[in-house]
Amino acid sequence: MNPESRSPGRGMTNFLGFVGEDRPALSDLQNCVHCGFCLPVCPTYIATGQELESPRGRLHLIRGVVEGRAEVTPALLGHLDLCLQCRACETACPSSVPYGRIMEDARASTMARGVRRRPISWTLRALVLRQVVARPRVLRALFVVGRAYTRSGLPQRMRGDWRRALPPRLRALEAQAPVLDARPYRRTGNVARPVQPRMRVALLLGCMQGELYPRVHEATVRVLERLGCEVVAPADQSCCGALHAHAGDAGAARSLARRNIAAFEAARVDAVIVNAAGCGAAMKEYGRLLRHDPGWSERAQALSSKVRDVLEFVADQPPGDGLGPIDADVTVQDACHLAHAQRIREAPRAILRSIPGLRVREMHTPDRCCGAAGLYTLVQREMSQAVLDAKLDDIRATGASVVATSNPGCTLQLEGGLHRAGGDLRVRHVIELLDEAYREGDRQSEATRQSELSRDSLNSNASNS
Ligand code: SF4
Ligand code: SF4
Repeated sequence: MNPESRSPGRGMTNFLGFVGEDRPALSDLQNCVHCGFCLPVCPTYIATGQELESPRGRLHLIRGVVEGRAEVTPALLGHLDLCLQCRACETACPSSVPYGRIMEDARASTMARGVRRRPISWTLRALVLRQVVARPRVLRALFVVGRAYTRSGLPQRMRGDWRRALPPRLRALEAQAPVLDARPYRRTGNVARPVQPRMRVALLLGCMQGELYPRVHEATVRVLERLGCEVVAPADQSCCGALHAHAGDAGAARSLARRNIAAFEAARVDAVIVNAAGCGAAMKEYGRLLRHDPGWSERAQALSSKVRDVLEFVADQPPGDGLGPIDADVTVQDACHLAHAQRIREAPRAILRSIPGLRVREMHTPDRCCGAAGLYTLVQREMSQAVLDAKLDDIRATGASVVATSNPGCTLQLEGGLHRAGGDLRVRHVIELLDEAYREGDRQSEATRQSELSRDSLNSNASNS
């Protein structure tokens, strides 16, 4: 019997297998030769030492279900759910096992069946993803409340007892909440128009970046304009759907992807620029996400081919002049979905090395996950914290004063951890540092111009008298 035929509706109605169009492909799973090269890079294997919390162990479980030797049980789902989907195993694998898509498919095809999972985690996940993240009005209303709260000074005045009274998940969320900037970035339409544009690009606003870190969008737009790009931010765009796809909600991810495809097609641009690594990785995979949809698959492929991470895009442009110095030691935290999913590692380093005065100090494992992983930090609190603690030790050992990263989830996670630990380490997107260097260059040029003007004026006064 073909093992993939062992699914409900094909004569095994009581068998809990994978169902739906997203079932993991046996051909993908068969690439694994069980060599174990992926084990030492897997954060959950490092933390537990357990084979079933390793990539090889999870692939074995998934293959067992695909081949009809195992059922989807709560215990099996527990092992899959503990995976961060950081995809470090994918870049370590000599056999090119597409672990990311296997895990996404496994989650999507258990979600399609409605298999019972740990109720709190999954109720929370479904609620947050469908009712908040995918609905800009609801999300923005929550951020209005959050902005008022974090800027009121209340978090600093509230003492231990009040915090201890909160449920653990809410307490964790509250402890991690950044002080939100007063004004979110929600600009749409034409957001930058240089005098003689070389290219026309679109900016993905995303669901979180403009609310959590508006300064990253501002820096991105300034740098792109300086490089001669006309920048548009289509008003009809939506959340990219990455969080939904990772959580197995492929239906919601697909409808968000269709909306973005239509919005960015209408913008008629040379490239779609993304400054959140997780969103960029998801948009580059829209073609696969919509592969079963004949009306959208070609359009999805076409859009995916235009998506560029902002660092990848900037590093490919002719270097602009006018960079001023930044006197600091910086260490790079590779966002997993930049290094492992998009395979971009050199661009952030090349950009940082181009900034005068900035010293790049590599940490021991810059491409190991920080434990953020979307909603993982809420639903797998203990493991997320263990992974974060290892990352913070690695960062501190570099002696750097700035951590440069490229994803809002990583920034939030690292800021939360560093804040709790004390100290004055700052977390910045690489594009913010580049923008800061350009602005410092502008300040220095202006100061030089002013001093030349005043010297000329002194000389002319002296010659007149
Ligand atoms: S490195 Fe690749 S082939 Fe080896 S065990 Fe891991 S997934 Fe399988
Ligand atoms: S994606 Fe990350 S956490 Fe999951 S198995 Fe691979 S290395 Fe481990």
